[in-house]
Amino acid sequence: MDINTTRTQFPVLDQQVYGKPLVYLDNAATTQKPLCVIERERDYYLHENCNIHRGVHYLSQKATEAYEHARQTVADFIHAKEAREIIFTRGTTESLNLLATSFEHYCIEEGDKVLVTAMEHHSNLVPWQQMVQRHQGQLLVVPMNDKGVLELEQYEKLLKEGPKVVSIAHISNVLGTINPVKEMIAMAHRYEIPVVVDGAQSIAHHPINVQKLDCDFFVFSGHKMYAPMGIGGLYGKAEWLEKLPPYQFGGEMVDKVSFEKTTFNVLPYKFEAGTPNVGAALGLETAMQFLQGLDREEVERNEAQLLTSAIEKLSEIEGIRFIGEAEQRSGLVSFIIEGVHPYDLGTIIDKMGVAVRTGHHCAEPVMTRFGIPGTVRASFAMYNTMEEVEVFVNAVKKAAMMFR
Ligand code: PLP
Repeated sequence: MDINTTRTQFPVLDQQVYGKPLVYLDNAATTQKPLCVIERERDYYLHENCNIHRGVHYLSQKATEAYEHARQTVADFIHAKEAREIIFTRGTTESLNLLATSFEHYCIEEGDKVLVTAMEHHSNLVPWQQMVQRHQGQLLVVPMNDKGVLELEQYEKLLKEGPKVVSIAHISNVLGTINPVKEMIAMAHRYEIPVVVDGAQSIAHHPINVQKLDCDFFVFSGHKMYAPMGIGGLYGKAEWLEKLPPYQFGGEMVDKVSFEKTTFNVLPYKFEAGTPNVGAALGLETAMQFLQGLDREEVERNEAQLLTSAIEKLSEIEGIRFIGEAEQRSGLVSFIIEGVHPYDLGTIIDKMGVAVRTGHHCAEPVMTRFGIPGTVRASFAMYNTMEEVEVFVNAVKKAAMMFR
């Protein structure tokens, strides 16, 4: 894979900030978009734009076909059994809110529990927390050790408390830890508990096979995998999606409506009320086809090399502390430097052209766990280079020197 050729597909990377070439290492927040994705969405608005599922006319049928084709592509990409198991949403956050609300109406009773882990993004914590609290219930939390690895014996104990749902991150957006989700799913299933996997940080970097994982639900955002913002997905096993009640109500999700009674549409439409973001769904399809066209093992290897090199080079900095040192990790490195506030560090290296994220990364409990205000996080994507890692580490070294 020639990274320089790949980079030509991402025009936004080719720019200067503050007179320095942009080094974009904030990919865990959002990835940049390749030309084919941008053009697909533009093309839709130039030639195909129409509301779907409703019209008998040519354009409406064309747009409907394209949208349903995109659904099939998503199903194939994550190896779902059927396209009707894919619900288009705005992204991970909406998918998780959908699940929390649907589970609440389906089966949550007074005092019920939901199990999450200590490393969840707020999106996979607050919806469940608010939901159980409405029923005087409780959030159970799988603890992690100092390296940012989940404690599975504790997980097993918590499963015995009978949570109604388990919802876990595939990869932590702060620590980079790859959680052993396959094993965790099998453990939960022994207690007949359904499992939601938050794949926001995994889907761009690793092939996903929901049938092999045997997860009951898998959620993700398009914008973190080279697709447009405002589109994402929820995979659910058909048997679960059939049972769960709809999340939002309105057009398209209904079967028959009278003032007395409403019956609902079949899957997947039952969960897609209102006009969806068709253009973005087509962009998502194109992003998936773009990824499928690459040697994904090679992409994974390149990203792993960037990470190893960044960690090695950063380790030379006096007073550095890595947050998240799991053996199984991917995509990003989080750290703090003694005597330097992460925000200051991020601001200084920004002036050197380097874009990283600083703060709590929407995971405040992780910060509390490690007793820190925030971290600096560099996260990698397919278009990052070893030279960029070098520029980044040198920028961090220079910034750290200013505080010595
Ligand atoms: N879950 C994880 C692990 C994330 O990293 C993120 C975003 O950073 C989210 C959920 C929320 O994703 P979105 O804002 O795209 O809905």
